[in-house]
Amino acid sequence: MFIGHYAPAFIAATHRKAPPLAVLVIAVQVLDYAFFSFALLGIEHYRMVRDFTASNWLDLYDMPYSHSLLGAAVLGALFGGVVLAFTHSRAAALITLACVLSHWLADFIVHAPDLTLAGSPPRLGLSLWNHPLLEHALEVVLAFATLVFYARRTRAAGPRAGLVLSLFAGVLALFQVIDWFSPRTTEVSPAQPLLALFAFTVLTLLALLMQSTRSKVSGANRFS
Ligand SMILES: [Zn+2]
Repeated sequence: MFIGHYAPAFIAATHRKAPPLAVLVIAVQVLDYAFFSFALLGIEHYRMVRDFTASNWLDLYDMPYSHSLLGAAVLGALFGGVVLAFTHSRAAALITLACVLSHWLADFIVHAPDLTLAGSPPRLGLSLWNHPLLEHALEVVLAFATLVFYARRTRAAGPRAGLVLSLFAGVLALFQVIDWFSPRTTEVSPAQPLLALFAFTVLTLLALLMQSTRSKVSGANRFS
């Protein structure tokens, strides 16, 4: 799961008490920010195994901190705590926590059994990656249906809004296509986590740009 992870952020960002979209775009990928950072630092590990799943060769055999349910809860609580400190809104903090946890749930659906509850077996994952057409369709529908929902539940606040929305959708699609169709390798290199972190950061910056061009349609902070 890559762009499908953003679906909860697009939906939640329309809630009147939600933190800004860019915060939620980070929240839904906090677990992968952590994993790829930990992989670079040698704290967590993966390897590339030929045909490990039908969708990719990722054998995510060691990610006890970033992708255990306990680790996700800790990361969610920490990030929710930061949002609480800045917004003084418990609702905003809880929405952030839910977005962080949504990542684990989505990974549970698509991953091979590599997730844990608290870092040790049982290993969990429903392996939807072994059904690429279904997984790819789910990912595209999740990401773009919810992006349309976000666009409809927000109002263009300037002349660039449509352009920025199209740019965001285009980059989202481009990154997913690159993820699906780039040549596969059995080699592990720092370029892989760095590229993932780069993609997450570009999407966060674009979310920052997009939120500045749109305002929420309904709710207390309608005109803020
Ligand atoms: Zn993940």
